[in-house]
Order: sequence, then structure tokens, then C-alpha cells
Amino acid sequence: MVSRSLIDVVAPLRCFSCGAAGLNPCVTCIDALGSPPVVSAPGGLDGVVALCRYHGVGRDLLTAIKYQNDRPATRWAGERLGRAVAEYEAEREAERECARRVEPIGWVTWVPARRSRRRRHGVDPGRVLAAEVARAIDAPLVRAFRRGPGPGQTELGRSDRLVGPDLRLVGPARGRGGRCLVVDDVMTTGATLRVAGAALRHGSVSGVTAAVVAVTPPPGEVPGR
Ligand SMILES: [Zn+2]
Repeated sequence: MVSRSLIDVVAPLRCFSCGAAGLNPCVTCIDALGSPPVVSAPGGLDGVVALCRYHGVGRDLLTAIKYQNDRPATRWAGERLGRAVAEYEAEREAERECARRVEPIGWVTWVPARRSRRRRHGVDPGRVLAAEVARAIDAPLVRAFRRGPGPGQTELGRSDRLVGPDLRLVGPARGRGGRCLVVDDVMTTGATLRVAGAALRHGSVSGVTAAVVAVTPPPGEVPGR
């Protein structure tokens, strides 16, 4: 079997969205993603940093990461998301009136994919994404969750989605304090991040911020604006 890294080197890069040869993503599609949306955080989270809206090129990016195991696109998104987190942190620090410093993000984790998806790809795309984010902000990547059986969020109706997945804290994260950054691919109802945030707080972290590649545009919002 040819290793994935060899395929990355030998196969010519094609943009995940428009298919143009050369760069993945191409400059035109990076432009089309637009500026990062401002997102209000679900309960229990200090903030959410998002790269783009789940629409157009943003939707293609999610498909490339989640279903096509497109490593160059995943690495690009992770690195870009890490930079967005660093900018968000710097702004947060600058906004404080008092002298007390904002505690820096101590570690990074991810919302694991269901086992069936991990088996299909041989890798958890969320982990690959989070590893790039962690590298970009120079923080350690720590596995925090085990995912219970049950359907994925995308297979559920909206009312069931609001409950969120079954996420349980595992060894390395239990009792690990400090601020945690939890990485996920897309935020729709916010239920997954709420569940993840509650589990992390229960495990004694001092704060949880989330970083997602895309957010579903709220009802009524014109996509692309
Ligand atoms: Zn393109």
C-alpha cells in the first residue's frame, strides 16, 4: 500500500473546491471563503472562533475534510484556524481594562468522529485538524473524549441534534486544569460544543473556547454576507 504522505508528494495538488491544478486551496477559493464570521458562543463556552460559513466554498471545505480525507485542505484549514485563534486571543488580551493577564490556552483537544468514520478513513479527520491548530498556537494536543455509540449529528433531525452526542472524558484530560481549546469541524446548533464544554468543565478545566472550521448561517442570514 502506498503511504498517504507519498501520495501527497506524487499526486498533483488540486483545489478541493474548483478542481484547479496547482494549489489546494487555490487563491480564488480562499478569497471566496470571505472573512471569518463573528459567532456567539453556546452556553458554557467562553467563545467560538470560526473560519467560514457553511456555504459555497465553505461547504466544499467541510466535505473535503470530513468525507474525502483531503489532507492538504485539512492542514490548510487547521493552520488558518490556528492563526484565527491566535488573533482572537490577542484581541481578547487587548480588550481587558485591568492589568490581569488572560490565562493563555493550555492545551488543545478535538471532538472525535464516530468509530465507523474513523475506520473508513483510517484516521480521525478531527484529530488531524486539531493537530494543525495546536501546532499553529504552540500548545499540546491532548485526547479528551471517547464517543459513545449512536448516530452522528448529521443523521439526526434538529430536535435530536439539540441533545448533542455522547462524549465522555478519558484519562489524559481528567483533572487536567487550565484553559482548553476544543476543535470541531462545523457548528450547527452548538449542542456538540455545549456537551464537550460541560464535560471539560466537569473535568476541572478553568475555561473552554471552541474553534470550528464552519458555522451554519443562522436562519434569515443571507449567505456570503
Ligand atoms: Zn479553487
